[in-house]
Amino acid sequence: MKCKICNSKNIKIVYCGKIRKGGLGKYTKQDVSMYQCQECQVIWHEQTEKNVEDYYESSAYRKSLEGGSEIDKFYELHDKETMAKFTYTGTECFRHKIVADIGCGGGAFLDFLKGVAKEIIAIEPSVQYREIMEQKGYYTYPYAIEAIKKWKDKIEVITSFDVIEHVEKPVQFLNEINQLLANDGKAIIGTPSDAPVMRAVLGEIYEKRLLFSTQHLWVFAEKNLKLMARQAGFTKIEVRHFQRYGLNNLIGWLKEQRACGEQNYFFVTNTMNEVWKAELSEKGIADYIVLYLEK
Ligand SMILES: [Zn+2]
Repeated sequence: MKCKICNSKNIKIVYCGKIRKGGLGKYTKQDVSMYQCQECQVIWHEQTEKNVEDYYESSAYRKSLEGGSEIDKFYELHDKETMAKFTYTGTECFRHKIVADIGCGGGAFLDFLKGVAKEIIAIEPSVQYREIMEQKGYYTYPYAIEAIKKWKDKIEVITSFDVIEHVEKPVQFLNEINQLLANDGKAIIGTPSDAPVMRAVLGEIYEKRLLFSTQHLWVFAEKNLKLMARQAGFTKIEVRHFQRYGLNNLIGWLKEQRACGEQNYFFVTNTMNEVWKAELSEKGIADYIVLYLEK
């Protein structure tokens, strides 16, 4: 077996057992092996749905994840993620720009850019969501490759959050983004890390219940993300770490041994929470990684 990112043959199995299938609390029937390349650190499994593209285009995918794909349910779940996305992007890069979001779902993030961006391109495999975004006046495409004909070298800001870990060929995915990007454009790509603190304190409990899942084909780290970005043709590559979940979340996990969101514990102050997040981000051991790419 060879690493699909760096070709190294130095691969180890880091987990073997049931993994999450769809939303929380649902697991595979069979044990799944998680492999890690000892060279570039990428973690993956080979338990792919037979045809990944058909699967993401169907409502079965959203249903397995969120229990339904009705648009209001989507906004209810995803509007609250917008603040975090703006902490990764800032607000100043979007005004009067041609902007695309890849894997945008029902366009929760794009809706907040509508007032400032010049053009909005919504890239999303789900047919149902695309219809809704067409009605909003966005250019829509199921996959980035289909947008290349019209938008090659033209898009000034490309965002994509929580998508690359679902993609079978992540280098190709980044290369398509490279092709779409204008010469002075910027791509901002976010993906969950392996949450090293959670793995350190919870081990297989966290790995089985949350981290490893059939829908995430990969768990990336700074080293392999930078390598893939270079392979995809980017020359200016920066990585930043962000801690999404607070101290309340960790304590909830330790108490309940399962995901229970951000519980409010009376002894965890806002300051403690903010310091916790800032320290993990600073040390590069946070739960989210963002790539900043220019051609
Ligand atoms: Zn590797």
